Amino acid sequence: MSWPSAVPGNPFHVPGRPHWRCIRCGNEWPCPTAKTELLTGYRGMKLSLSMLLASQWVDCLNDLCALNPSKGETPSTRDLYERFFNWAELGVPD
Ligand SMILES: [Zn+2]
Repeated sequence: MSWPSAVPGNPFHVPGRPHWRCIRCGNEWPCPTAKTELLTGYRGMKLSLSMLLASQWVDCLNDLCALNPSKGETPSTRDLYERFFNWAELGVPD
C-alpha cells in the first residue's frame, strides 16, 4: 500500500504536519477512519503496518516537541504510543 500524500484536496485521512491532525476530518491522527483504512490496507501485513506506525510515531513526537517546546504542553511518549499503537492489535496474528 502506498502512503497517500497530504496535499490540498486529498480525500484521504492522512496526518497534517506539524500538528498531526487529520487533514480530512480534523481529529487527532490516526483518526477512526484512518485506523480502519490502515487495518484494511495492511491486512496480512502487520509487520509493515508496525513499521509505518513507528515511523509516523517518531515524526509526530518530533513535530509536537518542536511545536510545543514546553514539556507540559507536549503529549507524553506513553500517550503517543497508545494513540499510535494500541488500536492496531499488532501482536495479534491476522
Ligand atoms: Zn480523518
